[in-house]
Order: sequence, then C-alpha cells, then structure tokens
Amino acid sequence: MNVVAAEPIIAWQKHEGRRVARVKGHDVILCENCGFRHVLPVPDEAQLEPAYRDLYYSEAKPSFLAHAGEDQDWAALGQTDRLESFEKQLGQGRRRLLDIGSGPGFFLHTAQARGWEVLGVEPSRQAAAHARSLGVEVVEGFFNAETAAGLCEFDAVHMNNVLEHVPDPAALIALARDRLSPGGLICIGVPNDFSPFQIAGRASTGAGEWWVVPHHHLNYFDFATAAALLERLGFRVAERTTSFPMEAFLMMGEDYTGDGELGRACHKKRKRFDLALEATGLRETRRAFYRALADVGLGREAVVIAVKP
Ligand SMILES: [Zn+2]
Repeated sequence: MNVVAAEPIIAWQKHEGRRVARVKGHDVILCENCGFRHVLPVPDEAQLEPAYRDLYYSEAKPSFLAHAGEDQDWAALGQTDRLESFEKQLGQGRRRLLDIGSGPGFFLHTAQARGWEVLGVEPSRQAAAHARSLGVEVVEGFFNAETAAGLCEFDAVHMNNVLEHVPDPAALIALARDRLSPGGLICIGVPNDFSPFQIAGRASTGAGEWWVVPHHHLNYFDFATAAALLERLGFRVAERTTSFPMEAFLMMGEDYTGDGELGRACHKKRKRFDLALEATGLRETRRAFYRALADVGLGREAVVIAVKP
C-alpha cells in the first residue's frame, strides 16, 4: 500500500512538494525546492526567538540540563568520536572550533580539554550560563549575519540538533561556511527522521508519527537529504555516522512514545550498550557499527561531516 503517493502536493511561497505527514493541523512536505522535508507554513525567526531565548530549557525540555549532566560520561564517547575525526582530517595545529547552538556547553568543554580553542553561540540564557560555568566562552544569541560578522575564522563548525529547528537551514549553513578556513570542516547532527525503523516502529505500536513535533521541529532530515544540502552549498561529504537506533525498542515491544519514564529506561539501556563496548576496549567496533548503520540509513540521528574545499 503506497499511502504517500495518494497525498496531495502542497505549495506555499517558494516551497512545494508532496505531503508526507499531517500532525496537529500541520502539514509536512518533501519540498522540491529545499530538497528535504519540512512543515508548512514555515514560521519566521522573530516568532521563534522568545521560545529559544527564555523558554526552551524550562518549558520544552525541563529536565534536559539535569539529564545532560547525568549523561555526560556516556555523551563524552560521541563527542570524542567527532573531535578525533576532526583532528585526523585537519592535521596538526588547526584547532579552532565554533559550536552553533552550543546548549549547555559539554561538547565545547570536551574539546577545550583536548586543546581546542573554542567558542559557542547559544540563544538560551540558561544553557549559555551553564556553558560558562564549565569555563567555556559563549556568545549569547542566535547565529545570524550580525553575530557571524563579529567572529574570526574557524577550522571546524559544529551544529548539533540545530537545523531541525530553524526556518532556513541553507542560509544558516552558508553563514557558517563563510566563517570556515579553506579545508575546514562542518559537522551537522540532526534527527534521522522517516527512517525505515521509524516506519516499522510506527506500524508495530500504532503510535502515529511521534517524531513529527511541528512546534519544535520545522525540518525532518535523513542522511541523504542532510548530505545533499551540504553538497548543494559546496561541501564535500567526508563521513556519515549515527547513534543507537532507538526505534528498535518499539519494534521489540517497548512503546516509549508518550511514556517519558520508559523512554528514559530505554535511553539507559543504549547507554549501557555503548559503555559496554568502551569498557571492553571495543571503541573502534562501536564506531564501525554506527558508520555501517548510517550507510543503510539507520540510527537515531544523522551525523554528517563535510569539508569546505
Ligand atoms: Zn521548502
């Protein structure tokens, strides 16, 4: 049964494409112009600003800062994976890192401890204050033409869980590209959405498209659309990787959608999975496992590292 083919084509301003989901009155299309899935209509940045400046970590993600601290032993594995990849590709002496949407600052803190010169840009007051408490320098605000103009050149730009939230991801990446030295790296991490395991998880739980959260996520990427966006902006893709395919829990009968406690329990299991490999000296096996999952479009997030020629 091909449900998608029966869905209408919807157009709004420069955006046009077939509808792939409709959740809480919001349409999501696979946009022919943008090359990825996004909500319609697209809100403008001014509408979003208060949500990210003051409310995001108190209303949308009330336990995020507490959990992020509790998770840091595990999260450091993924942070180190990315930093070691940057270091290998950049060679000696190129260690200037900009983290756009640096959140509570743990990634930059890990980088700083490895000898990187680091700077974060972060709109949330609470998150920026947390990062500063770790000894990390942060510009408080959105990354836009105005804040970008005041910055020096960097060898790597990192954007984790940012592009799904912004009205114009291409414009943001173009601005970041202009701050990169030649041969510099960009690393984007976004949820891997409409993935085969999500589709299977939806079928086995009847949960609907739980990953479509139109008030917070405007854009829905996968490996192909995230890589294509970077290529369209002149980057050469160097690496794709991911994290544990959380949807596998749904397929095994643990329906964590709408159940925060079970979600947290499943999250603890995947942490144990990663930490068990680390404790056994199998770090490279874990890395190879996640790169192989990414190659077949699976894993909870799509992480793409690309080079500015
Ligand atoms: Zn579009």
